[in-house]
Amino acid sequence: MSDSVEQVVEVAPQSGGWVKLSAGQRLRLIDVEGQQVADLFAVAEDDFDKWLSTSTSRSVAWRLFPRVGGRFFTTEFEPLLTFDADNSPGIHDMLFSVCRPEMYAAIGAALPHPSCHENFRKAAAEFGWNPTEAPDPVNFFQYTEIGEDKSLTAMPAPSKPGDSVTLRAERDVFVVVTACSMDVEPINGDRCTGLRLEVLA
Ligand SMILES: [Zn+2]
Repeated sequence: MSDSVEQVVEVAPQSGGWVKLSAGQRLRLIDVEGQQVADLFAVAEDDFDKWLSTSTSRSVAWRLFPRVGGRFFTTEFEPLLTFDADNSPGIHDMLFSVCRPEMYAAIGAALPHPSCHENFRKAAAEFGWNPTEAPDPVNFFQYTEIGEDKSLTAMPAPSKPGDSVTLRAERDVFVVVTACSMDVEPINGDRCTGLRLEVLA
């Protein structure tokens, strides 16, 4: 099936972008060069108190990580997005918080360092969403390995160039996506690259 593309937003390496989806509309999120983690945030268009909560989404799904057919919920258990299709190895994270300047300082990165927290706030401010804290994101393509002792290891993303996931809006929503800036841990392979957002008709 070929989908017609209504809008394209290119997300440059170590930056963010956003789209507005009407209920029923779909967003294809493309890992252009492969191995690039995409942090995704969403909020209801008409009520900025209704934002995508990864802990609520885990609770509803009884799962640590998202998969096709699952949905993403607000803290009030209202669905915002459905995970409609996955053209990637199917490895995604829903555990890690957003990367931020204080974290890069703590792990000894050269400062200033771009971060998903700053890039989220910059993109969200463009449509008037200004939360002090970024919600915990859904980290598409991020590979978190869970050890026998329940430890977590950050692994390189296994996604290939052109891999994608598709989400369907359950109501009118804004979606923010940041191309993760992490270049200390190997989650983005050996370099940070860009993402493409396609709003499908
Ligand atoms: Zn990040």
